Parts: sequence; structure tokens; C-alpha cells
Amino acid sequence: MTAYKAPLADMRFVMFDLLKLDQQYARIEGGANATRDVVDAILDEAARFSENVLAPLNASGDEQGCVLDKATATVTTPKGFKEAYAKYVEGGWNGLTAPEIYGGQHLPDSIGAPLKEMLDSANLSWGNFPLLSHGATEALRLHGEEWQREAFLKPIVEGRWTGTMCLTEPHCGSDLGLLRTRAEPNGDGTFKLSGTKIFITAGEHDLTENIVHLVLARLPDAPAGVKGISLFIVPKFKVDKSGQMGARNGVTCGAIEHKMGIKASVTCVMNFDAADGYLIGAPNKGLNAMFTMMNTARLAVGIQGLGLTERAYQSSLAYARDRLQGRALSGAKFPDKPADPLIVHPDIRRMLLTQKAFAEGGRALGYYAASLVDLVERAADADERKRAEELLSFIIPITKALLTETANECTYHAVQILGGHGYIHESGLEQFARDARITTIYEGTTGIQALDLLGRKIMQTQGVGLKHFLEEIGAFCQASVGNAAVQEFVVPLITAAKQWADITQEIAKRAAVNAEEIGVAAVDYLFYSGYIALAYFWARSVAAAQASAQSAEFKQAKLATAQFYYARILPRTLAHAANLHAKADTLMALSAEQF
Ligand SMILES: Cc1cc2nc3c(=O)[nH]c(=O)nc-3n(C[C@H](O)[C@H](O)[C@H](O)COP(=O)(O)OP(=O)(O)OC[C@H]3O[C@@H](n4cnc5c(N)ncnc54)[C@H](O)[C@@H]3O)c2cc1C
Repeated sequence: MTAYKAPLADMRFVMFDLLKLDQQYARIEGGANATRDVVDAILDEAARFSENVLAPLNASGDEQGCVLDKATATVTTPKGFKEAYAKYVEGGWNGLTAPEIYGGQHLPDSIGAPLKEMLDSANLSWGNFPLLSHGATEALRLHGEEWQREAFLKPIVEGRWTGTMCLTEPHCGSDLGLLRTRAEPNGDGTFKLSGTKIFITAGEHDLTENIVHLVLARLPDAPAGVKGISLFIVPKFKVDKSGQMGARNGVTCGAIEHKMGIKASVTCVMNFDAADGYLIGAPNKGLNAMFTMMNTARLAVGIQGLGLTERAYQSSLAYARDRLQGRALSGAKFPDKPADPLIVHPDIRRMLLTQKAFAEGGRALGYYAASLVDLVERAADADERKRAEELLSFIIPITKALLTETANECTYHAVQILGGHGYIHESGLEQFARDARITTIYEGTTGIQALDLLGRKIMQTQGVGLKHFLEEIGAFCQASVGNAAVQEFVVPLITAAKQWADITQEIAKRAAVNAEEIGVAAVDYLFYSGYIALAYFWARSVAAAQASAQSAEFKQAKLATAQFYYARILPRTLAHAANLHAKADTLMALSAEQF
């Protein structure tokens, strides 16, 4: 397998030529420090850290996994993980986008996206340890009391403590209304939490001196279902109101899971035995606060998909250039060699171009979503913040689900390109495919993202986010009149955007008569939306490349990849549209017994 090389040229293209983030940084709070030379230096340094420190630990981490010592309930991470984490903290990476008052650098969130992509390409499992700290920072910053922010945020931002998100219980996964963990008031404003959480990422490890669990639980008088869920802070070592760390709390790791992939990311059963905790935000409003973390985490998992797609693409591309097998159908391309390299074969090109189109198009989508986070958090104008928020909540389920589903497709293509060698452990490619598998499951499965998109983000808001996005597409098409470079994309894009609006109306009408129609349509609608969104970013990429100072070769590669996308990927929307026109009974006719 080839060594990981961060795709800095394309990252810079997306950030500066396509999304014009330098212009955005110049006018948002905290953006003044993100000058072009500062961002360039950050990208270079992040690439060095990912390539040289994290990537070499990826395969060994997969082989060693994490080890639980049951006697002490402690977890040892794979060799090198702890040192890599120390270097990460030392480099100030943990606080890159966090508020300055808590020790962060307060740089725009969109700078965190390429950093995250590099960490995940290099070592997805390792990336999970700092990942949830970011979500915990956001939840505490937005919903915590002043003393809670003071006591917990600084050590988390400094990387001395990490965060977790404790939602899942044995009987309660997607349906959080079922959760049973109890929080009993102590009478002094604190609570005792009891219950079992499962599948908790980074629930126990040896990287930091403390772990801060953000836990969903029920108060004694809580109403049933999701309206009775509250959010609590439960540290591994107790923390008083002045931020002093004290005795061990009643929360321990009872077991760790043995998994298909991300073996070096520890997944814990966490037992809460009358553990001391503090309430965050209002009683029974925990889900609102948790949604803050979930949005950040969902975008981050989408970026995980992107990272794996990029890594799989790089590895299989290098192999396809190298491996000699067969001759091109039109005659030998390398007659001096005993055979042509795999890359001459159309089927190999199909798989390589699919990965390239999803990696580069997915990068544009993922960074675009991150740029909306900048605006939601930091734009001066209230209307701009509101519009960005509506767009972001619409684009998050699409980004999370599409980038992770295509990561599964792409990592499988990469294995296929290596043939039998791809299936063999030593190639490293099968690890990417195994690691990618979880990304469509955690932080809400693809099915749940699809319901969120169609049910909550479209139907409950009369499609406000979609309207904004369609306006953007319309404005791009309008601005492209007379631009010969993108004409071939503009007509299909306008047609697709119009159909997107029409099909949404059609589903809304059917759903008004039969509520099942939402669930029946949801996943097809998500893919349909995602492929059109990527078509928009591919057309924009061609326009941005043409207008940029990039090399002729770069521009030609963008154009050819966009042509591939429009000819061979965008037509997938036709099959999804056919499914979307089919009514609910095509799925719902059989009774449970008839299956
Ligand atoms: C490695 C790993 C790490 C994880 N990390 C964390 C963590 O840090 N914190 C945490 O709290 N959890 C974590 N999870 C849990 C993860 O978020 C859940 O597994 C996920 O949300 C799905 O829940 P479930 O497994 O109970 O599946 P279920 O909810 O039982 O779902 C099973 C299937 O049914 C579908 N489904 C469920 N409900 C519906 C519905 N209403 N309509 C249509 N389809 C539906 C789902 O899409 C899925 O395909 C982790 C899981 C794993 C495996």
C-alpha cells in the first residue's frame, strides 16, 4: 500500500478557488487571523502530522486493537497512540477552532474540515479519540452554565481531558425515547446517574487524565419518550465547581466490543453506578443540547467517509498505475513492457473515476457544509446567520449519509482494483473497507438521516433549506450564461433542480394522505438529493477551475471528471426518481408473516 499523501492542492482549490473562503474569513468573527499564509501553513503542518505520525500507526492499530484490563477497568490503546495524541495536543490542534477564552485559537470551523479529513485518511480509529471532544465543547459552550464552561471546557480544549457522547443503551438505539438511565437529584443541585450505556466511543482509554461523559438520562418525574430526556455531565474523575479533579466517579467500562473495523477506536459498555453528575441546560430538554453535538458529529462522520474515499483512491490508483496485467483492447499502450498497467482498462478507469468523482465532489460538499458552520456561528448579520442555519440543517443529513455511503462504495472499488491482493490483509485496502462500514451506522444510520432530511428538514419546514439550496443552484446557472466552459453542465443541472422541487411536492402530497410515504421515499430521496447536490458542486468546480490560476492540466482533469460524473453517476438519479414515483404499497403490501 502507498503512503498517505494529503491532497493539499485539491483542498486549497476547494477552499479558495471554489468556496472563496478567504473572502468569507475576512468578514466573519475570528476570521481575521485566518489569512491565506496562516491557513497554508496550517494545512502543510496538518499534512505532515497526518502523513508522518498517524498514518504509520493505522495498520498496527488495526492489528493490536485496544485492550481492556477487567481487574482495573482500564483500557490500553495501541502502541504509539498515546504519543501521537500528546503530539497532537502539543501542536495545538485540539483547540484550533475552539474559543480563545478556553484556550483555543478560535479559527473558523471550516479550517477544521481539511484537518479532520487528513486525520481520518491517515488513521480513522485514532481520529475518533479527539472527535467527540469537539462535540462536547460545542454542547458545553452553548448549553452549559458559566461554571461548567469554566471547569470543563479549558481542559477539554487543551486536550488534557476528552469528551464522550453517551446515548445508546442495549434496548435503545435510533429511538432515544426508550432510554432508561436514571438521574436522581442529590438535593444539592447534583444528580446520581445509574444505568448502562453501550457502544460508547472513547468511553475509557489511556490518552488523557480525565474523560468527560455527556450522558442522556431521565429525571424521576420525566415524561415518557423523547420529551423526558435530560443531559448530564459525568466525569470519570469527579470535578468540583472550581474545576478541581477529585476521586474516581461511579462510572466504569464493563467491556469493550470486538468489531468489524475501526478496531483501534475503543467502543465501550459503560456502567453508571450512582455516578455523580451535573445537569446541562434545562430539565427534559437534553435532546436539544444533544442535537448540538449530533450536528457537529454528523458532519464529522461525513468527513470520515471523505477521508476514507480519498485514501482508498490514492492506494488503488498507485496500484493501477503499477500492476501489469493484460493489454488495452485498442492495442498495447506500453509495448516495451510485458503487459499494460491496469489503468488502461475501461473497467479499472470506471472504478478509479468513481472514487475520484466522489472524493473531490465530496470534498466540495463537506467543506461547503463546514463553511456554513462558520456563518451560523460567526456572521455579523442575523439574516445571514438564519439562512446559513436553515441551509446547514438541510445539508447535514445529505452530507453525512452520502459521503459515508459513497465511502463504502469507493473502498470496495479500491479492493476490487487490487483483485485478490485487495482482499489480503497485508494490502491494507480491506481495512479501509472494514473501517468505512461503521460510518453509515453511527451518528444515525443512513435510514435515520433520510427520515431526518425528508421528515424534519423538508416536510416540517416547508422545505426552507431546499429552497435556499435551489436558489444557489439557480444563481450559479444564471451567472454561467455565456460561460462556454460550463454550458454542458448547466442545462442538465437546471433540469435536475426543477425535478428535485417537483418530486418533493409530489411526495408531500402523497404524505398528506398516507404518512408511510415519507418512510417509503426517504432513502431514495436522500440519494437523489445527494447526487444532484454533487452535480452542482461538480459544475461549480469546473467554473472555479477555469477562472483560477490552476494549471491547464488541473483544469482539464476537473472538466473530464465532471463529464464522467454527469454521464455516469448523475443518471443514478433516474432510478431513484422511478422509486420515488412508486407508491407505498410496493413496499408495504406484505405482512410481517408473509416475508
Ligand atoms: C463502533 C460504534 C461506535 C458507536 N459510538 C457511539 C457513541 O459514542 N455514543 C453512542 O451513544 N452511541 C454510539 N454508537 C451507537 C450507534 O449510534 C447506534 O448503533 C446507531 O445509532 C443505531 O442504533 P442501533 O444499533 O440500536 O440500531 P437500531 O436503532 O436498532 O436500528 C437497526 C436498523 O433499523 C433501522 N431503523 C431504526 N429505527 C427506524 C425507524 N424509525 N425507521 C426506519 N428505520 C429504522 C436503522 O436504520 C437500522 O438500519 C456506536 C455504535 C458503534 C457500532
